Amino acid sequence: MDFNLTEEQQLIQESAREFATKMIAPLAHQIDVEDKVPGEILDGMAELGFMGIPFEEKYGGSGLGYEYYVLVQEQISRFSSAVGTVFTVHMLGADAIVIFGTEEQKDKYFPRICNGELHPSFAFTEPETGSDPKQLATTVTYDGDFAVINGTKRFISAAAYEGPMVVFCKDPEAGGGVSAYIVDKFCPGYSLSPPWEKIGGHGSPVYDVYLRDVRVPVSNLLGQRGQGFDILLLGIAFGKIGTSAIALGGILAAYEEALKYAKEKLHRGKPIAKFQAIQLKIGHLAAKYHSTRWMCYRLGVLANDILSKRSSNWGKFEAEAALVKGYASDTAVEAARLSMDVHASYGLTKDFPIERIYRDVIICPQIEGVSDMQRIIFANSVLG
Ligand SMILES: Cc1cc2nc3c(=O)[nH]c(=O)nc-3n(C[C@H](O)[C@H](O)[C@H](O)COP(=O)(O)OP(=O)(O)OC[C@H]3O[C@@H](n4cnc5c(N)ncnc54)[C@H](O)[C@@H]3O)c2cc1C
Repeated sequence: MDFNLTEEQQLIQESAREFATKMIAPLAHQIDVEDKVPGEILDGMAELGFMGIPFEEKYGGSGLGYEYYVLVQEQISRFSSAVGTVFTVHMLGADAIVIFGTEEQKDKYFPRICNGELHPSFAFTEPETGSDPKQLATTVTYDGDFAVINGTKRFISAAAYEGPMVVFCKDPEAGGGVSAYIVDKFCPGYSLSPPWEKIGGHGSPVYDVYLRDVRVPVSNLLGQRGQGFDILLLGIAFGKIGTSAIALGGILAAYEEALKYAKEKLHRGKPIAKFQAIQLKIGHLAAKYHSTRWMCYRLGVLANDILSKRSSNWGKFEAEAALVKGYASDTAVEAARLSMDVHASYGLTKDFPIERIYRDVIICPQIEGVSDMQRIIFANSVLG
């Protein structure tokens, strides 16, 4: 058992921190106000090899594995959870294609995914369901060599970026099971609602996606017909690596901002850090950061085992991912609250980053399955 990062891991962590400090931190407020991540940030991340960091070099990736992705995601999300969300959705769609796609599908999309030209999406949620695949209303029918998709997907991230979208639909020809198809965003029949107005995560807008007689070649099927449920579960489990690391970045942000404020803010000429009440909050924040950190790093290592086929126990990985995601998300909300208490009224103003961090982390427990669902998934895995 070794709890030290390797030299290479430290190097990647430092380069992500440096990039985020120079390129993201100065724009974090602008991203929040304009609800848009400037292109130069995503281009910069691609230049550093981050957009393909866990994927094999033969597909254009950096070949470093998921623990490196977690290290990078943590530092990116420390300064902007919106950039972190664009990054995690990019991986979520790409993960599904790399695990279940054919070599042709990977050759078609991966070089441009890894160099940041394309940003994939993953479209499951619909107006009638966010947690229950049995209620999917999007359908696929067949016309010769074409699959024809109709339906509405809700709250879809990265829907306005060019790239492949993994779409889940009810498939009558697969006994009413779920099939997953790769749809190129902005193809004929693809359109978007205006972005939803939400409390935080500004910079990573979500849309309703309308699919009206969208025709894709049947060769765009991901995996097998009727295998969509497996793709959904494993794909979302991989997505939870990113969401957990966004939460971890939020905890780090809350912790570091509390430390900074505690040393800067004076009472009767002395920093508030001298008050025991503040020290207790700092102690709680440190414990929350370090416990979440190791859970997230470990999840990255477990993901490598699945992708490299060292482990085929998808159910165990899905349960572990649920455990970490639920814990990290709820801990991030608690950490932001503690840091807010250190800042008191000043934390409520736009003059201090904790105001945005507080609005951003509250997103984490509500996406990719709410926190209670995560605990139920894990409990079912141990209760049998
Ligand atoms: C910022 C953001 C980005 C998103 N990006 C995407 C995306 O890219 N792709 C995508 O497909 N979706 C996306 N979503 C949607 C999101 O993943 C879902 O909204 C989420 O999974 C929860 O679904 P729901 O809101 O419909 O909740 P519901 O399923 O309606 O759940 C409501 C409540 O009921 C409880 N509940 C539901 N079913 C059960 C059950 N069986 N047992 C016990 N309790 C239950 C839940 O725990 C929850 O508390 C995004 C959402 C947001 C806010």
